[in-house]
Amino acid sequence: MGSDRKSKPMTPNLAASPVPPSREQAAVDEPRVLRPRRAAPADAVRPTRAEINLASLRHNLRVVTRVVDPAGTGQVKVWGVLKADAYGHGAPAVARTLERAGIPGLCVALLEEAVELRAAGIRVPILVMGGYYGRDRQGLDEIVEHDLTPVLYDAGQVERLSRIAQERQRVIPVHVKFDTGMARLGAALTDAGALFDALSAARGSKGQGVRLEGLMTHLACADADDPGVTREQLRRFAKVRALASGAGLTPAMCHAANSAAVFAFADSRFDMVRPGIALFGVAPREPGAASRTLEGPLAELRPVMKVRSEVVALRELQPGDAIGYGHTHRVQRVSRIATVPIGYADGLSRQLSNRGHLLVRGRRAPIVGAISMDLTTIDVTDVPGARIGDEAVVLGSQDGPLGSDTITADELAAHMGTISWEVLTAVSRRVPRFYREP
Ligand SMILES: *Cc1c(COP(=O)(O)O)cnc(C)c1O
Repeated sequence: MGSDRKSKPMTPNLAASPVPPSREQAAVDEPRVLRPRRAAPADAVRPTRAEINLASLRHNLRVVTRVVDPAGTGQVKVWGVLKADAYGHGAPAVARTLERAGIPGLCVALLEEAVELRAAGIRVPILVMGGYYGRDRQGLDEIVEHDLTPVLYDAGQVERLSRIAQERQRVIPVHVKFDTGMARLGAALTDAGALFDALSAARGSKGQGVRLEGLMTHLACADADDPGVTREQLRRFAKVRALASGAGLTPAMCHAANSAAVFAFADSRFDMVRPGIALFGVAPREPGAASRTLEGPLAELRPVMKVRSEVVALRELQPGDAIGYGHTHRVQRVSRIATVPIGYADGLSRQLSNRGHLLVRGRRAPIVGAISMDLTTIDVTDVPGARIGDEAVVLGSQDGPLGSDTITADELAAHMGTISWEVLTAVSRRVPRFYREP
């Protein structure tokens, strides 16, 4: 087990600048990164941590790559989506692992997420999907400085970037996003003419200009049983591609597929796919589908994150005794109650109070009482031999003397009334990530 962040300073660099520097000054002093940083493994005394299995991450990349490119021709490329700190797994370590495994590109939502990856030494192309670069041109300047690929949405952005390309005498690749039915971000089909005109005008001459490298859209219902919405979105996307080629533009990369579409819609893969959750070993499924058995390559995915802690206190309660804030649980029998130092501030939702389970000695122990900010209580009466120091698994698998079991992100999501994406990204900065290379 290695700790990826050991070498980095853990304390946020706040003391150095009591007055926040202006944006311009900050850009000179230090790269634009998200702060504050997460708890570092080296500073962790509490036994609560997230273990990130990098071998599983590589395995999932191989599964996805085999699905979209079975012959290994490289015709359909996999660009991993590492937004939100790689879905809570720690973007720099995840990116480094995927880059070494040969991934051809990465996607993030925010400019600062992309800058963080460049600062970590990541060299592959990075697509910045969010599309906000500030009101002026500062964000676009930073895109060029860090060799990032922006997603653009309107003709104004194309023109601003075109001026930057002229000034810097650079060819700047861009991807353009169209809204084909998500109704969130992206150019409308009716704006395609103006946008493609602007892109044609911005092409510039040899050595400088804006080059349309990619056309993209995002699917709203690729994990739904009914393929109707996705079919319609793909029809509209076909129209966009026809309009581009009618305008004399030949983007090398068309892409639409998130994880769900990668597995469910072969005709959504085009030149490249953008899986996020599948790389982290969680099947992309709409709420409520979690109980269904997985089939085919989806069943081969291996969860990358395990969240575990340890039993730090044990007590015996008598019938009628109550537990925790609000006394929401009262025991019916003589009970052994174990305390585990993880709470809702770590991402273990309070919705799991009196509902979820933790694994101890390979067996499920029900969460009893309200989950507090830092602590959770579980009933280990039916876990013979449970004692202080036993591992308590919140998310992931455990092999123990009493058996082996797994708590999946889907299971937690069902209890929390949400989706597995939120379960992963909810694991908070207080939980240090430990990177495993088994
Ligand atoms: C988050 C995101 C993805 C990846 O989605 P998953 O469901 O996690 O695979 C792909 N494309 C865009 C535009 C996204 O925002």
